[in-house]
Amino acid sequence: MQQETYRALVLTQDDGVTRAAVQDIATDALPVGDVTVRVAYSSLNYKDGLAVTGQGRVVRTYPMVPGIDFAGTVEASESPSYKPGDEVVLTGWGVGERHWGGYGELARVKADWLIPLPKGLTLQRAMGIGTAGFTAMLSVMALEALGATPGDRPIAVTGASGGVGGVAVALLAARGYPVTASTGRAESQDYLRSLGAREVIGRLPAGSGKPLESERWGGAVDTVGGETLAALLRTAAYGASVAACGLAGGSDLPTTVLPFILRGVNLLGIDSVLCPLDRRRAAWERLARDLPPEALDRMTRVAPLGDVPSLAQDILEGQVRGRVVVDVRA
Ligand code: NDP
Repeated sequence: MQQETYRALVLTQDDGVTRAAVQDIATDALPVGDVTVRVAYSSLNYKDGLAVTGQGRVVRTYPMVPGIDFAGTVEASESPSYKPGDEVVLTGWGVGERHWGGYGELARVKADWLIPLPKGLTLQRAMGIGTAGFTAMLSVMALEALGATPGDRPIAVTGASGGVGGVAVALLAARGYPVTASTGRAESQDYLRSLGAREVIGRLPAGSGKPLESERWGGAVDTVGGETLAALLRTAAYGASVAACGLAGGSDLPTTVLPFILRGVNLLGIDSVLCPLDRRRAAWERLARDLPPEALDRMTRVAPLGDVPSLAQDILEGQVRGRVVVDVRA
């Protein structure tokens, strides 16, 4: 007989104030979908921080079970693509924003949103990677699609102490790129070098007022946006590409067109949420193959579901280093 209730973190909103609490909810309340998954792990991403604290209009309807990614085992399936016992991973598609997400023991979703757990990964390591690591991989793939190869000029990774940043550093270093990690946390020096960074620098300074400065970067993965992204564009080498995937420092972009029209710099937009299935599978296969597991384990810690509300605050304040896997059963 199917379990009648399950444990989940539930967001409610009252007079504009968002509340998050772990509750038992009826299995009957699971949303519509053709695959029911027993979730083992979810993870903590910047967007989860926004959702759980009620910021950024990430969640529009309440009650909501947040959690934008999960890994688990299929419990029931009406889809020919999956059968009970299959291990699966989900990131994106509005799950944890518009559709109940991964911060619960059960999730019911569309089969098309899932991918099989890639060979070589465990459920826990898949969520060590999570949406953040998947986005880092998409960024590296975008740089390489425009011709990036390991060379003399460093690849810059901004917000390097965060989740996307840490995975980007480890992936690029493992591929042989010289990586410069940019971080606001002086105490992250040893950590970032242990992930493979050849150089660790502070946050990129605001503009000198000049639209172009000395060519420095052979490419970049930017998780910060705002002045930081503008600084990368001013200092990218001729023909280099900058993958813009985040806005931890702001969503504006105070730049000029000069890096594009005088240096042929490419600004590449990265979206993980609606990324098509073939690229999604290719990215996960590469993550399973190319991301050194010891680097992933070094940047990951596991936290129980009940810690998510305080961790959500921490990640928005830039206080979380690397990746947090959420054990929904703990
Ligand atoms: P984290 O909070 O783990 O990392 C963000 C990092 O950015 C922080 O650790 C900090 O790094 C840096 N940072 C934070 N605030 C500022 C600031 N005001 N100025 C400069 N740097 C700052 O978040 P994630 O790694 O999970 O996500 C990073 C970004 O990527 C977020 O904006 C997120 O929304 C976005 N994202 C986008 C996706 C997409 O599909 N495009 C998918 C996943 C994430 P440090 O301490 O090293 O300076």
